[in-house]
Amino acid sequence: MPPLFLRNVNLVDGRRGVDVLVHDGHIAAIAAGLAVPQNAEVIDGDGQLLSPPFVDAHFHMDATLSYGLPRANQSGTLLEGIALWGELKPQLTQEALVERAMQYCDWAVAKGLLAIRTHVDICDDRLLAVEALLHVKQKVKPYLDLQLVAFPQDGLLRSPTALANLKRALAMGVDVVGGIPHFERTMADGAESVRLLCELAVERGLPVDMHCDESDDPMSRHIETLAFHTQRLKLHGRVAGSHLTSMHSMDNYYVSKLIPLMREAELHAIANPLINITLQGRHDTYPKRRGMTRVPELLAAGINVGFGHDCVMDPWYSLGSADMLEVAQMGLHVAQMTSQAQMRACFDAVTANSARILGLAGYGIEVGHRADFVLLQACDPVEAIRLRATRLAVVRGGAVLARTAPATARLHLAGRPATIDWTLRR
Ligand SMILES: [Zn+2]
Repeated sequence: MPPLFLRNVNLVDGRRGVDVLVHDGHIAAIAAGLAVPQNAEVIDGDGQLLSPPFVDAHFHMDATLSYGLPRANQSGTLLEGIALWGELKPQLTQEALVERAMQYCDWAVAKGLLAIRTHVDICDDRLLAVEALLHVKQKVKPYLDLQLVAFPQDGLLRSPTALANLKRALAMGVDVVGGIPHFERTMADGAESVRLLCELAVERGLPVDMHCDESDDPMSRHIETLAFHTQRLKLHGRVAGSHLTSMHSMDNYYVSKLIPLMREAELHAIANPLINITLQGRHDTYPKRRGMTRVPELLAAGINVGFGHDCVMDPWYSLGSADMLEVAQMGLHVAQMTSQAQMRACFDAVTANSARILGLAGYGIEVGHRADFVLLQACDPVEAIRLRATRLAVVRGGAVLARTAPATARLHLAGRPATIDWTLRR
């Protein structure tokens, strides 16, 4: 492979106008004014942002692109979505699952999204979706990291075969232990499921990522239980709580006790802004709650927060295109994270923070790391979110995987023809 040379790019850490040289699939040098090796493939960065690839910390690839099958969600609630998915499950085939997942992975690559943690429902005794996604994981491995979470959608204790199926899925090679305590029959069963799953994770030496308190119920407190068992079993740094939407509705005094407990357990928190704003608050009249967890407060306490896409065109959500900048933009708005530092934190939530949650080794644009990055049509992370910037080039291991033409418009105003691209060069 000839060397790859990126001329004049900005980096997320604020460095501007540097060159990046790639040799043998790895980053060999980062500095201003580097010499271009003979025979190098040159990409002119033109002062635009070179970012590490986007990372999605929370997704459901077994359900993606199934919107409308067998019908659309009328109420817009989480519970109707789960019921609808239950109607679709018996009709699923391995071929259709693989085909839809592969199509989504193509969309992801084109958008510079090169690592995805996907939950996979293990409540179908055939474990069709597990087989399909393990197959997809191998197929996309050369260009996309897929991490699978064994997810008992119908409840670990509520569904009679879920625990046995979950263990089978882990034995087949699923990477992470999942759960859904708020969907068990009682709060007590929910707490018991958290205990069982954390102990299983210790036994298997696996990380945990649980759908936790995905409701508007201010008394749903499984995150407290998850933090408790995480510190009891010394799983620090290996456990993520996904959604945590009940925290939006909790009493402020209680949250002032809860967040330090989450910090003590080194929990990761995953918000899913597009889905939380869509599914939560459906039983409210006005004012309507937003439902997203307390992202700025969690970050201020030193808790690692990632954003996930969660759903694209499935029983819960009818839109989406694998664009993690859309996710960051929604998170920014829902949490009112509008200072420069907070907007940059939203960019981190779909890149570096989520990479930490997945435990990706060698992530980030540094000498010696594998040459994985995305050239964006924007000069910095804030502009990238504002414009949901075009992914001009997506590179993995020094190979260009995808290119998209820059977004521009040609104006034909009288006497003042011009081409614009919405970026502000400063
Ligand atoms: Zn989910």
